[in-house]
Order: sequence, then C-alpha cells, then structure tokens
Amino acid sequence: MDKDYIVEQLKQQLENFEATTQTEKIGVVVEVGDGVAKLSGLTEAMSSEMLEFPDGIIGVVLNLEDGQIGAMILGNYENIKEGDVVKSTGKILSIPVGEAMMGRVINPLGQIIDGKGEVETEKFYPLEKIAPGVITRQSVDQPVQTGIKAIDAMIPIGRGQRELIIGDRQTGKTAIAIDTIINQKSQNMKCIYVAIGQKESKIARIVAELEKKGAMDYTTIVVAGASDPAAFSFIAPYAGCALGEYFMDQGQDVLIIYDDLSKHAWAYRQISLILKRPPGREAYPGDVFYLHSRLLERSARLDKTFGGGSMTALPIIETQGGDVSAYIPTNVISITDGQIYLESDLFYKGIRPALNVGLSVSRVGSAAQTKAMKKVAGKLRLDLAQFRELEAFAQFGSDLDKSTRNQIERGRRTVEVLKQSQYSPMSMKDQVTILYALTNGFMDDVAVEDLKKWEDDFHQYFKSTASEVLELIDKRKELSEEIVEKLEKAIKEFKEVYQSN
Ligand code: ATP
Ligand code: MG
Repeated sequence: MDKDYIVEQLKQQLENFEATTQTEKIGVVVEVGDGVAKLSGLTEAMSSEMLEFPDGIIGVVLNLEDGQIGAMILGNYENIKEGDVVKSTGKILSIPVGEAMMGRVINPLGQIIDGKGEVETEKFYPLEKIAPGVITRQSVDQPVQTGIKAIDAMIPIGRGQRELIIGDRQTGKTAIAIDTIINQKSQNMKCIYVAIGQKESKIARIVAELEKKGAMDYTTIVVAGASDPAAFSFIAPYAGCALGEYFMDQGQDVLIIYDDLSKHAWAYRQISLILKRPPGREAYPGDVFYLHSRLLERSARLDKTFGGGSMTALPIIETQGGDVSAYIPTNVISITDGQIYLESDLFYKGIRPALNVGLSVSRVGSAAQTKAMKKVAGKLRLDLAQFRELEAFAQFGSDLDKSTRNQIERGRRTVEVLKQSQYSPMSMKDQVTILYALTNGFMDDVAVEDLKKWEDDFHQYFKSTASEVLELIDKRKELSEEIVEKLEKAIKEFKEVYQSN
C-alpha cells in the first residue's frame, strides 16, 4: 500500500477524532447495616435522590453530612458490603402513576406485587412534593359518604378534609376505613389504601374483601409489609400520596388511607437512630412533626381554576391505653381537621363502631353535609349528649320524673340504632329515613332488643313500598315540608303493617 495513502488516512482519522468521556458520580459504601448505609464521595448528592447500589438495588439519600452521606436501602441489603460502589442517578425518588395502577397492589417503589402482570405507565410523580398553596385551594363543600350512620350524621367528612381515626389496638379503626372505601362505589372516588408495617396475611384479607365487594375497581393498595425493611414503611405514605396527587391533578376526587402513621413514625425513628440522628422526645428525631405535616398538607380541595380535584385523607393512629396525649397522637391531632375517636370499653360493650361521640369532632365537614342529613343530625347529637349526662341516673328507674325517663329511653334507642356491623355501609337516603324515625320518636314504643329487626324491616319496607320517598331524598338532598309529609306517612304505614304481624 502506498505510504502517502496511509498517512492521509491517519490524518483524516485524527481530524475526525472526538474524545467522548462519560462521567459518573460515584461513592463508596463506608458502613452498612440494618438497611442503612454511610457513603463517602457523592459530594453533590441531593436529599431524597435515588442511588444505585450493586445488583440494581435502589437507595435514597436521607442525611447530608460533612464528607459523608447517609442513605436508606430499598431492597435486600444483606449482600451490600463495605467498599461497594454506589452511583448517583440525579433523580428524585418517584413512582409510576396513572389509571393503570387502579385495582393493583404495589410496593412503595410502584412495583406491582399482586402477580397479575406488569403495567405500562408513562408518567412518574416524585414522592416528595410541596403541598398546594393557599391560592390553589378551595374550602371543603362536598361530602365523603362513609356509609357509617354515626360518622355521616355526627362527624361528617368533606372532600379534601383530613380526618384522623384514632384508638387503641383492635377497636375497629381499619374497619371504618375499609367500609368507607366500599361505600365509594359509583361515588366518583379513587381510593388508595396504604398499609404500613402490617402483617401480609392481614393485607391479603383486606384485598380479598375489597375484591368481593367490587371495590378494587377503583382502589390501589400500597403495601409496606411487616417483613419489609423499615425504609419501605417510611416511604409508603409518600408513595400513596404521589399517586393520589396525580389523580387530584386530573381534577378527580381521591380518598387516601394511611394505616397507620404510628408505625410510620416507628420506622422513621428506627432509621434515624441507626443514622445516629439525635433522639428527642420518646426517642423520635426532632423533625417527626414535619414528617407527618408535610404528608397531610398535601391533601387538599383544589379550586376550579386548578382542576377542582380533591384528596381526602384518613390517617390512622394507634394509641396505647387510650392515651391521646402521647407525642405522635398529639402531633397528628393538631395537624388534622378532626378525629374519630374509638374506645376499647365501648367496643367490648358491643357498641360498634366504638365511637366516642363526645371526643370525636369534624372541624370542617359540616359545611359539606347534605341539608337532609343536617336536619336529622342536630337532634341526634342533642339526644346523645343528654343521654350521656343522665345515664348515670338510669339505675334509679322509677324514681325519675317522666321526662328524664323518656330521655334515657330515647338515648338507649339512639345508641342501638347507631350500632352498625362491618361491611354494611348504608346510603345517605337510608340513613336519613331511619334517623328521622329515631329522632322523631317513632321508635320510642319499640323494645330496644327488637330494634335491630325493626330497622331491617323498616329499610325493606321503604325499598319495596315507599321507594318514591327514598328517591326524593336522594335527588333533592333536603327534607322539605312536602318530603317530610310523605316520609311521616310512610313511617306510620310501616308501623301499622309491622305491628299487625
Ligand atoms: P388493629 O389495631 O389490629 O389494626 P383495628 O383497630 O384496625 O385493629 P379492626 O381490625 O378494624 O381494628 O377490627 C378489629 C376486630 O373487630 C375485627 O375482627 C373486626 O372484624 C371487628 N369489627 C370491627 N368493626 C366492627 C363492627 N362495626 N361490627 C362488628 N365487628 C367489627
Ligand atoms: Mg387496623
């Protein structure tokens, strides 16, 4: 070959040569254990940034210290060892969102874990996001129907509200949340249930129950199980919230349940202690209040100009021995717009839902209550309050004057009618009719022990014979004179039929 030709070729190649270099920001594991790693290098890492450990395991930056960062490991951390190389991704932790996530069970990374195939989504939402500002918000004016008589009547919840469910263990906290999801059928609501640190068997039962009731069509379950690393429990509520935010941004209504935030705080405490953050009250790190407030602030009712979507949150807190003044309960009580307080004593007495009406409140929901419900509910609260005052005297029986005795009898019936079994949410129109009958004395002559059957027959009668009244209440959502007249007529007719057989 010609020498000149070769030189020419070489020259050309040199001219066209471009040095391509690729830079990767990497760090090295200095210390690892209990799902947490300390890394050196990665000087430019951001808080909440995703990291890539060997074998594709994901980590998240939590602590930014001088010359070192602390990260939690989201996955099997047993194979990670000192000296391993960690890459930064430049991305904030986020999960896939979209309609395709409905009906699925996912982990807090957005990975499908129900074994029913992968989903395709294009959009990702970050787990941490600044809550909607005041300008974008609107006040709460649409109800969330829980289907539970005592709650819809006396502690009404509005769309966009944050209502805490609080009580000792095994008092029916989860039951209220699940019944509320079941009752959202054809109410235009997307539901998200975030299970934090619960046993997998318990979650499987909940999923099965929701499937049976056809509620999985509009529900996503986010699971951080009891056997998953604490980091999963820590990020789970934010993952569920991010998914909810996507739907809210689409102008839809979302209901999200965090079951429960006590376990969330424990997971955070565990991670923080391993990362050697200074412990504060009850050994929680100092920013545990911020942990929950930045989560719950993201629930909102958006103004119409911002799509008009909403996200209602029902966080759950477990108390020990009914102590609502412990650190985490007081924190979350102060962040939410009211609480549904459940009591063991009532639960064991058979009053279920075990609602303590005196201590439960909803600070904004009454603005969202339908007129019809408002009309019956005012009387109901009064009857119950009077009953609580007089209950102690009930043992004196015949020594009491007639009006006191009547009030006690009414109270007994009120307590009885407000009992409601699990998985049987009731529509607004059914609630209004039965509570109207109760508060207007139509049950005063029915023996307390017969009330359960009386109520069942009552609803049956209305469905078959007086459905016109039900439809009117459903449509107008108020008790006008005309409707009241028809309602009373139907109740009287029912009583005649019932008493004659
Ligand atoms: P945990 O502290 O274990 O999470 P919890 O407070 O969430 O408990 P649930 O699991 O909802 O309570 O309910 C405890 C038990 O009470 C369950 O067996 C449930 O079926 C039953 N239960 C709950 N609500 C009712 C109800 N309204 N009527 C009858 N039984 C109920
Ligand atoms: Mg529970």
